[in-house]
Amino acid sequence: MTKDNLTAVLHGIEDMRLEQRPIPDISADEVLVAMDSVGICGSDVHYLTKGRIGHFVVTKPMVIGHESAGVVAKVGSKVKNLVVGDRIAIEPGVPCYKCDHCKQGSYNLCPDMAFCATPPYDGNLTRYYKHVADFCFKLPDHVTMEEGALLEPLSVGVHACNRAGVGLGSKVLILGAGPIGLVTLLVAQSMGATKILITDLVQQRLDIAKELGATHTLLMKPGDTAEDVADRVHQVMGVEPDQSIDCCGAESTTRLAIFATRSGGVVVIVGMGPSEMKLPLFNALAREVDIRGVFRYCNDYSAALALVASGRVNIKRLVTHHFDITETAKAFETARFGTGGAIKVMIHVQPRNSNNPVKF
Ligand code: NAD
Ligand code: ZN
Repeated sequence: MTKDNLTAVLHGIEDMRLEQRPIPDISADEVLVAMDSVGICGSDVHYLTKGRIGHFVVTKPMVIGHESAGVVAKVGSKVKNLVVGDRIAIEPGVPCYKCDHCKQGSYNLCPDMAFCATPPYDGNLTRYYKHVADFCFKLPDHVTMEEGALLEPLSVGVHACNRAGVGLGSKVLILGAGPIGLVTLLVAQSMGATKILITDLVQQRLDIAKELGATHTLLMKPGDTAEDVADRVHQVMGVEPDQSIDCCGAESTTRLAIFATRSGGVVVIVGMGPSEMKLPLFNALAREVDIRGVFRYCNDYSAALALVASGRVNIKRLVTHHFDITETAKAFETARFGTGGAIKVMIHVQPRNSNNPVKF
């Protein structure tokens, strides 16, 4: 086997380097994965530019990347679910399996979760990466490696819509038409929502949301007050939304989500904003609007894969830019500045489409 294990390593703020790392040895329950596609997430960019997200701080070199798919190159002696050559999507967080949260099934809340590219754990923008086989999902031949990588953000959308209780005939407000707002839109549609209004500050993002099936869009301006926009939301939708899903994390959008939601409805907060905010809690309590958090996903990868494999959800449109791993710096610059209307930037560790048996 080759010894080339070119890897994108974040050494500190604005200091990402491509360097050779040893190919990892695997243990009995792990597989070695020849990485194929790795999407850039806002959090990857945040670690590059700020060196931290909340209390997760980059204090030593960390391999970046966690939205990923690859091909199994080696299997551990106890691995039963995969064989060499399987094309897989990688669920990037491996919990402890022992704590109360893990035992109760809410493993996304495990305090000992080892999550790719969340300090101190390495990510997988690298040629060879090892992962616990339990958290690898075999892709059918017709699902591309890029779609496999996109199951990560899509799973956030699945979890958010489940937490919100989106269902048949739901009227849903989504704040923010970035990758997370757009996957949430796709999932809400597939769960039977009949009216979906999505907001953003950028018209181009709203145009894509419309293309993906949003029934209504609303362009916000930075100075808009939440109370005023709530009225506009009701006018445009013709109803008060049952669920509002904040995929921005700005104080103004979380405030809007609360004001706009119908009494007895649900607000879900996905966007990671400032650690403290001024919110209209009296308004929420007096109208019994439930406010729920979302942390990544939990048992959602299978549903995300089924949505893509069945054709129910088409996530391909989200990928606007492609780069080779050797062009990682340029890829991050594109994601960071949204160059050329970038939504999702995909990095190819192997030539694009080389591991897709069904050609498109
Ligand atoms: P993004 O920055 O690409 O998208 C955010 C969008 O919101 C942008 O299009 C922006 O123009 C828009 N926006 C900003 N302020 C606005 C406002 N006042 N009104 C309307 N729109 C506004 O980010 P993303 O990758 O789509 O992620 C969205 C958020 O979700 C981020 O905060 C990210 O950290 C968070 N996130 C949370 C989880 C979780 O587990 N809770 C997982 C993934 C991402
Ligand atoms: Zn645990």
